[in-house]
Amino acid sequence: MSDCLFCKILDGEIPSEAVAENDHAYAFRDVAPQAPTHVLVIPRRHEPDIGSLVEADPDAAAGVLRLAKQVADDAEGSYRLVFNTGADAHQMVFHCHAHVLAGRSMGWPPG
Ligand code: AMP
Repeated sequence: MSDCLFCKILDGEIPSEAVAENDHAYAFRDVAPQAPTHVLVIPRRHEPDIGSLVEADPDAAAGVLRLAKQVADDAEGSYRLVFNTGADAHQMVFHCHAHVLAGRSMGWPPG
């Protein structure tokens, strides 16, 4: 999508700090990290959220999860995997993305 921030990152039109990638997904560092490790994992296919991605392309959804696991394994220790889904859940970019957060202890419930 031409007006999508994360599509522009995938195209290289907007720079990003790459962490890892596979056939279905790309992982890069969040520009405003909320933990020592804060990596975003996005599908190459544009879908607005994880629900629409898993319905439209289950292989791509699995690719996102596999890459998120790889990033979390590299960070070592406990981690949190977050898909903010919908504006009231603090989704601000409507291209599906997983936050991989690690490197500090975390509270519950999330705010
Ligand atoms: P969300 O609130 O779940 O939609 O998360 C969007 C995330 O994208 C936020 O954590 C932002 O800090 C992050 N973000 C926005 N623009 C960029 C960018 N150009 N490069 C990396 N991360 C970004």
